[in-house]
Amino acid sequence: MHYEGPIYRPPSEADSLLVQATVGCPHNKCTFCMTYKKGPAYRVRPVREIEEDLESAIKIYGTHVRTLFFPAGNTIAMPAPELARICVYARSLFPHLERITVYGSSKYIFRKGLADLKKLRKSGLSRIHVGLESGDDEVLRRIKKGTDSAEQIRAGKWVREAGIELSEYVVLGIGGRERTREHALATARVLSAINPDFIRLRTFLPKINTVLLHQIKKGRFEVLSAHEVLKETRQLIENLDVTSRVHSDHYTNYVDAHGKMPEDREKILKVIDGALKKDESAFRPVYVGTQ
Ligand code: SF4
Repeated sequence: MHYEGPIYRPPSEADSLLVQATVGCPHNKCTFCMTYKKGPAYRVRPVREIEEDLESAIKIYGTHVRTLFFPAGNTIAMPAPELARICVYARSLFPHLERITVYGSSKYIFRKGLADLKKLRKSGLSRIHVGLESGDDEVLRRIKKGTDSAEQIRAGKWVREAGIELSEYVVLGIGGRERTREHALATARVLSAINPDFIRLRTFLPKINTVLLHQIKKGRFEVLSAHEVLKETRQLIENLDVTSRVHSDHYTNYVDAHGKMPEDREKILKVIDGALKKDESAFRPVYVGTQ
């Protein structure tokens, strides 16, 4: 079994078999992300190598694997026929597989198009985790996400239309103090247009070796305080018109705001309001992350 570069996977894939299909990230420009900044460079692994890793996984775990995740940063960018081939092969080796998941930015999902997404679904791909980060075009431009809100909406809708489960990640505070309101409202608008299966909240923490940390040090970006993040979260939840499940499955978050929308909206807002009654000193400080 081979693995190159940092091992990075969604928390919800903690129990999944990880078999690397791609190395690095083809975009690698987001100003807040340090995961692949020092390499390795993006490449697609040869299909036969991936198949061999799947075969060796049987020797370790048997055929009763239930969930499979194909790292790395943007495996949806892999040529569709090759991704389809490894999905089909994995399903043949592991007949009890319930889910095959990849990471995919809207930019690369958009390039795939609806027809390829439908083919991938038929081949067994069942879930995509998308780093939406924000629905605000100005924030997306500043963080160099390589996409805009219109493309994020098209890509998200296609994933759903193809019958693939969709997880959209939001980074609270990624607009800084300057665009907190715009970030909350535009993100709510984009998510409402997509109506993903899952909305996963993370809170911005500066990371070492990132452009955004440099901007903070130069005074060009102000990190939100805990209360400011909570108010932004409130604004986001208030304006969501979705039937998604909201998850708060990340160590960076100040509060566990989770539930099924829209029925749990009031419950989530109550949790946020309860947290807002606490003094700022009750929350973790802003620090520079190393991972
Ligand atoms: S956040 Fe995702 S798309 Fe952006 S550079 Fe990091 S891995 Fe690549």
